[in-house]
Amino acid sequence: MRVMVLGGAGFIGSAFVRELNKRGIRPLVYDLLTYAGRLENLKDTDHEFVKGDIRDEKLQEAIAKYRPEVVVNFAAETHVDRSIYKPQDFLTTNILGTVNVLDASRHYNFKYIHISTDEVYGEECGNENSPLNPSSPYSASKASADLFVRAYVRTYKVEAIIIRPSNNYGPRQFPEKFIPKAIIRTLLGLHVPIYGDGKAERDWMFVEDTGRIIADLIEKAEWSGEVYNIPGGQRYSVLDVVKMIGEVMGREVEVRFVNDRPGHDRRYCMTTGLRYEVTPLREGLRKTVEWYLNNRWWWKPLIKDRFFVEDEPWSKGG
Ligand code: NAD
Repeated sequence: MRVMVLGGAGFIGSAFVRELNKRGIRPLVYDLLTYAGRLENLKDTDHEFVKGDIRDEKLQEAIAKYRPEVVVNFAAETHVDRSIYKPQDFLTTNILGTVNVLDASRHYNFKYIHISTDEVYGEECGNENSPLNPSSPYSASKASADLFVRAYVRTYKVEAIIIRPSNNYGPRQFPEKFIPKAIIRTLLGLHVPIYGDGKAERDWMFVEDTGRIIADLIEKAEWSGEVYNIPGGQRYSVLDVVKMIGEVMGREVEVRFVNDRPGHDRRYCMTTGLRYEVTPLREGLRKTVEWYLNNRWWWKPLIKDRFFVEDEPWSKGG
């Protein structure tokens, strides 16, 4: 099967490439290699690679040349704090980039898998038909893109689905995100900043499970704009997770409470009609900690980033 993976050099995209390799598929990865996209993430995988922007004409050319049967779009700006600090790239990549991919799907017949997020539902528990109620510039851009997917299915009859995963964690996640930040900062003997009271709840999903479930959906999905929620089914507060990380690492985690992120959602929570197995959080955290312990070369160059260093990195932005 000819599969093109947009954003395949990022965290979830590279896990998905590994899953495709397990199934004997050698995909074409198309990625701009922003700060979050790294060829190191694709080490030891079998893939073709084209460096490119999903907002560019070059995407159309790559699709015209490769003629994929399936295009999976992970390419996005993904960090909520950065979207508060500077929202513009979130609009252009997450919305205009998606529309560029959708335009290609009008001209070349491929099945389009759009990767969205549980954050589009806001704090209310959502099923696939719940209204979208985003709170951050990030989730607003993701919700907008989802609406464009629906509009293109309805107007141009393109074949597409929308997948909404919950909070992923695991190997190769950029250290700006909460779990790798907590692990790495603890390894370095630094405190871990906790936003607000730490009681914000997320639904945690091990990244390899997400890769497998998305790959299964290529076979199972209906292709007329269906939404597939993929919750991890494991809702824990940030403080609960920090405690578990400390237990798994066998170390004291030094927590520092800092000002809450503006507009911070207290929880995300979704239901699904799909059936699948997930890795228990403690086991997934154990694998994740082990990976960061054994792959210091991967994260060492990244720890000067302000979104790793600062306690309230969204502040002083704009
Ligand atoms: P990530 O930030 O690790 O990777 C994003 C990738 O997209 C990088 O490789 C980057 O280089 C690439 N990219 C960014 N802008 C691009 C552009 N204009 N053109 C081409 N490539 C570009 O992200 P992730 O955590 O792997 O998330 C992947 C997708 O899953 C995103 O759409 C995100 O919204 C969604 N999602 C993530 C989570 C999570 O917890 N990580 C949860 C739900 C949904």
